[in-house]
Amino acid sequence: TAEKETLGFQTEAKQLLQLMIHSMYSNKEIFLRELVSNASDAADKLRFEALKDDTLFEDDPNIRVRVTVDKDAGTLTIADNGIGMSRDEVINNLGTIARSGTAEFLKNLSGDSKKDSQLIGQFGVGFYSAFIVADKVEVFTRRAGAPADQGVHWTSTGESDFTVEDCQRDARGTEVVLHLRDDDKEFADDWRIRSIIKKYSDHISIPVEMQKPASPSNDEEDKQEEAAPEFEAVNSATALWTRPRTEVSDDEYKEFYKHISHDFSEPLTWSHNKVEGKLEYTSLLYLPATPPMDMWNRDAARGLKLYVQRTFIMDEAEQFLPLYLRFVKGVVDSNDLSLNVSREILQQDPAVDAMKSALTKRVLDMLSKLAKNDSEKYQTFWKAFGQVLKEGPAEDFSNKEKIAKLLRFATSVDDKAEQTHSLEDYVGRMKEGQTKIYYVVGENHKTAANSPHLEVFRKKGIEVLLLSDRVDDWLMNHLGEFDGKQLQDVGRGQLDLGELEDEEDKKAKEELAEEHKDLVERVTKALGERVEEVRVTSRLTSSPACLVVGEHDMGAQMRRILEAAGQ
Ligand code: ADP
Ligand code: MG
Repeated sequence: TAEKETLGFQTEAKQLLQLMIHSMYSNKEIFLRELVSNASDAADKLRFEALKDDTLFEDDPNIRVRVTVDKDAGTLTIADNGIGMSRDEVINNLGTIARSGTAEFLKNLSGDSKKDSQLIGQFGVGFYSAFIVADKVEVFTRRAGAPADQGVHWTSTGESDFTVEDCQRDARGTEVVLHLRDDDKEFADDWRIRSIIKKYSDHISIPVEMQKPASPSNDEEDKQEEAAPEFEAVNSATALWTRPRTEVSDDEYKEFYKHISHDFSEPLTWSHNKVEGKLEYTSLLYLPATPPMDMWNRDAARGLKLYVQRTFIMDEAEQFLPLYLRFVKGVVDSNDLSLNVSREILQQDPAVDAMKSALTKRVLDMLSKLAKNDSEKYQTFWKAFGQVLKEGPAEDFSNKEKIAKLLRFATSVDDKAEQTHSLEDYVGRMKEGQTKIYYVVGENHKTAANSPHLEVFRKKGIEVLLLSDRVDDWLMNHLGEFDGKQLQDVGRGQLDLGELEDEEDKKAKEELAEEHKDLVERVTKALGERVEEVRVTSRLTSSPACLVVGEHDMGAQMRRILEAAGQ
């Protein structure tokens, strides 16, 4: 319908809008970064669709975004000639929040506006951030390729509803008009806006243009006809990853991360590489500091942004990294793939496999470097993503050793719950004659640390890894050994301390067995079928008895997981 419709915002969108308006007072200027970022995404989408149908460029092939200020009217306008939106797209994209994780995000709010504004800063605010500085926002848009009478006009004051109506629109793309709040008229200032663009949007690969300052002219003719305003690019407008590493500042890398990741906290570190030779590609990989709200959701966004010869091809290209590195964000730009590449083709292309294994190495190297150079940052990484990395040895056998070095554990050396010890640390502290790495698995850290299986180890001063994450049993089974030392579950089978057991221990054990023969017989009878074997042990020093899992039986934790799954 061409008529004007008034529609309500989706509940979550409404909540987010209110929150934004009331809590983002300390860093208002980020609204411009969001709107320019959307314009840049719209340019990427147009270029991509035009690969199949170049009439979409109409007669306006130079993609750019223009920002204009009108001091008298108190407005700021951001206009792009990207993909634009149809009426349905406007309603869907600007009336709801499609982003996964929004519900969780809203659940995490505390009501304390200072804390909440930090949270929202992490979450990323998107289009609605326009309402931080505007009390009314208008959007004029037309989808590339659609006729001029299929323009759409969207308006809202950011309260509970918005209106949409059809309009005539010759220019393709989207124009966002902000009617600035009385308190925010400072943003209708040319120089202020220029400096914000420089600060946040320099890395955007399309030109972000502003009107050239009028130059005083003596030419009479010039004054007579009102010349069309001239625009100039304010940013450097080259795709950041194509620039040499030495010419990109840390701040630029950080802003670029925010642009591609929807994460508004700073990345921990990054790795930028240009590869030449048989395969030619550039990669820029980031390690986030905070897990996304929906990390445990299996459908959550993951993967890299794929470009082919600087043309955007797709988001969430999952084929370039293994699942256990799904927290990595970034861009890969290939010279070898075809511009028509699809997800299906990516799955079969041997060049993609080669890139995947090279990029996996890059990420593992980036992690080792971080662990070596900045243990505090590495600990932040481990807290956020350690459990994901623990899936590695099972998924990626060829990099097992490398991954094993990156793992961190709690151990009986200090009994702390925090996972800070590496296997190399453990091996460095091994007792003379110790040939195995011992671990105990418990339902939680406390149970693990208090396990009766540990008693003899504590007495002898032998360190034991205290494992309590769900994936740990699985991890240990796939790891098997480290540095030639077998990983041994102390809750399993006969306790064999090997050379750590001295002659005296052995003799005492035999005497003990002899002494308690009758008791063992009685207990065996009493427990009957329920146990496989009852034996006298030296593994306990203060508990009277404990249950042990057979050497080749399923671990207690695996059993719990299968039970929970209804097996
Ligand atoms: P995000 O960019 O993370 O998807 P936003 O809130 O910034 O979230 O934008 C919501 C959606 O609105 C975008 O995904 C896009 O589909 C649409 N959109 C916003 N701005 C533009 C624009 N300038 N051109 C075309 N589509 C846009
Ligand atoms: Mg956006």
